[in-house]
Amino acid sequence: MAKKQLGYVELEWTCPHCGYKNPGSVTVCNSCGAPQPENVQFEQPAQENLITDEQKLQQAKAGPDIHCPYCGTRNPAGSTVCSQCGGDLTDATARDSGKTVGAHRDQPAPEIPCPACGTMNPANAHRCAQCGSSLATPQAAPAPARVPQRKTPTWIFAVIGLVILACVAFAILSLRTEEVIGTVNALSWERTIGIEELRPVEHSAWYDDVPGNAILGSCQEKVRGTQDNPAPNSVEVCGTPYTVDEGSGFGQVVQDCYYEVYDDWCSYTVDEWLQVDEVRANGSNPNPTWPQLQLSGGQREGKRDENYEIVFDTDGRSYTYSTSNEETFLQCDPGSEWILNVNTFNAVVSIEPSN
Ligand SMILES: [Zn+2]
Ligand SMILES: [Zn+2]
Ligand SMILES: [Zn+2]
Repeated sequence: MAKKQLGYVELEWTCPHCGYKNPGSVTVCNSCGAPQPENVQFEQPAQENLITDEQKLQQAKAGPDIHCPYCGTRNPAGSTVCSQCGGDLTDATARDSGKTVGAHRDQPAPEIPCPACGTMNPANAHRCAQCGSSLATPQAAPAPARVPQRKTPTWIFAVIGLVILACVAFAILSLRTEEVIGTVNALSWERTIGIEELRPVEHSAWYDDVPGNAILGSCQEKVRGTQDNPAPNSVEVCGTPYTVDEGSGFGQVVQDCYYEVYDDWCSYTVDEWLQVDEVRANGSNPNPTWPQLQLSGGQREGKRDENYEIVFDTDGRSYTYSTSNEETFLQCDPGSEWILNVNTFNAVVSIEPSN
C-alpha cells in the first residue's frame, strides 16, 4: 500500500503541572512556564488545519525534537547545544515519532464553553477570549473501538472431536476384515458406451484468456487486481486520512492508497464434446458384451463403463461383490469357490480364488 502525504498539522500537548493545552511547537508551557517533559505525548487538537506557513512547515519536517540529557529541555532536531542549560546534545534522545495519533480531524469542531465564565470559544482556542482562563478540560480520550474477539465456543471443539473420533472408528471398522468362503451363485453385468456431440458451451474469463476459437459474448469491467502504482484503466482507492506524530510538535496527515486495476471479464462460447446419450447392454450370464453403437453425423464414441456383480453363497447368507474388473468377473465361474474378505459392515472388500 502506498502512503499519500496530505500535509502537516500542529499537534498540542497538555502541561502536567497546570493542565494547560499548549501548541505543539511550544516547548515551554505558555501558562506556567514548565518545560514539556519527554514522556508527555503530543495529542490531536479538536480541529486539525493543514499548515501553510513555510516556517512551521520547515519545523514540522525537521524530524523529532531531542531532549537535553542534563535538564530535559526539548530542543529542535539537529541542535548541538541545549537552549536552556547549554549542555552538549550529542547524547540527546529523540522524541518518539511515527505513531498514529488518530483519524485526521478536518471537520470544524464545535465551540467549547469557558469553564470560568461560560463564554463560547473556538475549539482550538487555548485561552478564553473573554476572561483569559485556560480552556483545557480533562477530556477523556475516546477509547479506540476495539473489535471484540470472537471466542470459539468450546462445544464446537467437542463436536469436531466427536466427528474425528467417529471417522477414525469407521475407518478402523471398515479396514478390519474377516475371511469367508463363498460359492459363486449368480452373475450379472452392465456395460454402457456414451454418445457425444459437439455442443456450444458458455464460459467466462478475462479477455486475454479467452481461447482463440471462441465466440466472444458480452464483456464487463471488473477489478482484476490491486497494486501500489497507477496503471492504465486503474482507479485509486484511499483509506481515511490519519495523523502521524512526527515528534516535532507536528503531525503528518497521510492516507493509505492503492490502485484497483480494471479489466474486461467476458463470456464466450466454445464447442465442446458433451455426452448426449448412451447405449446400454446387460445380462445375468458369464458372457458380457458391449452394446451396439450407432452414431449419427457429428457424433463420436464417448466414455465406456462396465460394472459386474457376483453373488456368493456362504453358510447361512449371501454376499454381493461389485467390481469394474472384467478379468475378475470372467474368473468367477458359477459354482467356483472364493475367499471373500468381509468387513464389519458385511461389505465384500476383495475376493480371491480359494485354491
Ligand atoms: Zn503549565
Ligand atoms: Zn539542557
Ligand atoms: Zn472565560
